Amino acid sequence: MGGPGSGKGTQAKLLAEATGLLHISTGDMLRASVAAQTELGQQVQKILESGGLVSDDVMRAVVEQRLCRPDCRSGVLLDGFPRTLRQAEDLDSILKHHPQSRVVVLNIDVAPETLQKRLSGRRSCPQCGRIYNIYFQPSKTGEQCEACGGTTVQRKDDEEGVVRQRLEVYNQLTEPLIAYYRRNELLHTVNGEREIQEIYYEIHGMLHGD
Ligand code: AMP
Repeated sequence: MGGPGSGKGTQAKLLAEATGLLHISTGDMLRASVAAQTELGQQVQKILESGGLVSDDVMRAVVEQRLCRPDCRSGVLLDGFPRTLRQAEDLDSILKHHPQSRVVVLNIDVAPETLQKRLSGRRSCPQCGRIYNIYFQPSKTGEQCEACGGTTVQRKDDEEGVVRQRLEVYNQLTEPLIAYYRRNELLHTVNGEREIQEIYYEIHGMLHGD
């Protein structure tokens, strides 16, 4: 867990590489369905562009179907789900079908002002995929990608108004989940305003009990 721009995806990728757990990002799945213009993609495109949340029923179906696939058997890292109390309850009920599973909830804590800058400052190169941030890590060649010369672009949902909406949605609907998981004693919170590697080592150590 963590606000949009907290580094959930970055940490999940690193952990997946190190642990062999499968990284499942609901945001990536939805963006892929929009790109492929599937029925789901057509249904959710406008919601993604506006910074709102896809309905809990749709998300339950998406996640439930994904977790049934055989590549999930040795464990998964869920990134971006659950995002509402209903989704957390749905996940509890889905996990009842997997009684052997052990659940750990990681929360990456980052101040709202930092999240705003990380998201609205993010740019990526459509040619090689390299990510920049105009505030924290600008390209040395301005709007051009340092690596391949492509023109960097901003994700539609990183535009300033949409970022505000995403942060608002996070505060209202997702943040309450922190209390939900704290009550169930499943929650580990890490300070997300440090170097990527430092945060990663802390999470890795936590998962392995050292
Ligand atoms: P993310 O890449 O995790 O920031 O997700 C991008 C967008 O996908 C979000 O702003 C939502 O519109 C949608 N989305 C991803 N995961 C969920 C979820 N669990 N519930 C509802 N909408 C979601």
